[in-house]
Amino acid sequence: MLIYEYKLHGSKAQYAAIDEAIRIVQFIRNKCLRLWMDSRGTNKNDLQCYCSVLAKEVPFAARLNSQARQAAADRAWVAISRFYDHCKQQKPGKKGYPRFQHDNRSVEYKQTGWKMEPDGKHITFTDGCTIGRLRLVGNKKQKIAAFPTKQIKRVRLIKRADGYFCQFAVRTERCIEHVPTGKHVGIDMGLSAFLTDSDGNTVENPRHLRKAAKRLKMLHRRLSRKQKKSANRKKARKQLAKAYLKVQRQREDFARKTASTLISSHDLIAYENLKIANLLRNRKLAKSISDTSWGRFLSWLNYYGVMHGIAVIAVEPAFTSQDCSACGTRVKKSLSVRTHMCSGCGLVLDRDHNAAINILARVYRTGGQSETGGQPQNAWGEATSTVLSAVARPQATSWSQEPPVL
Ligand SMILES: [Zn+2]
Repeated sequence: MLIYEYKLHGSKAQYAAIDEAIRIVQFIRNKCLRLWMDSRGTNKNDLQCYCSVLAKEVPFAARLNSQARQAAADRAWVAISRFYDHCKQQKPGKKGYPRFQHDNRSVEYKQTGWKMEPDGKHITFTDGCTIGRLRLVGNKKQKIAAFPTKQIKRVRLIKRADGYFCQFAVRTERCIEHVPTGKHVGIDMGLSAFLTDSDGNTVENPRHLRKAAKRLKMLHRRLSRKQKKSANRKKARKQLAKAYLKVQRQREDFARKTASTLISSHDLIAYENLKIANLLRNRKLAKSISDTSWGRFLSWLNYYGVMHGIAVIAVEPAFTSQDCSACGTRVKKSLSVRTHMCSGCGLVLDRDHNAAINILARVYRTGGQSETGGQPQNAWGEATSTVLSAVARPQATSWSQEPPVL
């Protein structure tokens, strides 16, 4: 699936109609959730059937296209099945019992309820929500109209701080001819550099969030000074939301470009399979980690890997920064020690460079399968806390993953 995104231009009344559709989606999702809570054993199919019941009982729900209603019910099911999965796997900690939503920002149509105009620059929504005809504004190079309508599987309308957007999910066999380079590489993602590869190259950290932090802080302060429910407060909140959106887009852009560059210049990429959600729970590190946006980078890396048909392999993180990449001696070091100095063979190497070599070597040795020896340690060689022990769980090689959704 490829995702194309456009900004939407329409009238105020049309935007209000989109808001209404978004509210209906939330209403249906929450109603489905309520049904599941109230009657045990409700399954996905029951939720689908409940959609048409709702449409008959509640006049405003009927205005939304029937497939979009089903997509709303699917969302409820996604939340429910995630909860079931967590219970089944006996995931430690909270299981994520589904919650009612009140901040929904999008509505998803499937293959009905909308049509592309022949000019390829407009889309018309044809259901009872009266959204009507909207202009698509976007990069001239992306031509959604070039795809047969059949291949457009989903159309999603999204409300953001700076306007309304339309995403198209297109099923296509897009493949890029990969020019073989014969180069294999291991990458270590760290805090000092965004990543270091096994050849010793580094990509520096763009600390968008840090740079923008000053401005965000100022905007936060401005917001807190405004009177509750005043028009000025609303304005200040909007400014703040826009500032956050900007940071988010810069981060996405960086993640995508870094991944694309790396993929097009290598035939195999190995990375450490860090469980980012777990790391984020370590509060000391949280800010710099979320700042560096590893998660977005990894999903783009896998996405481009599939597109180029090259292997992107996750290896287990145990001891990659401790072991010597030349002789295998385990040299214990704390996070603050930035250089690997081997007591066995005398090798002196940058800590992250040494780790990246180990990561690549692990692929050849184990094919990316887990290799647990001794106590689990985190990526920086610190003694592990309980949260980090989850990292040691084996994970199969990831040749393919879902495409990233912007
Ligand atoms: Zn050594």
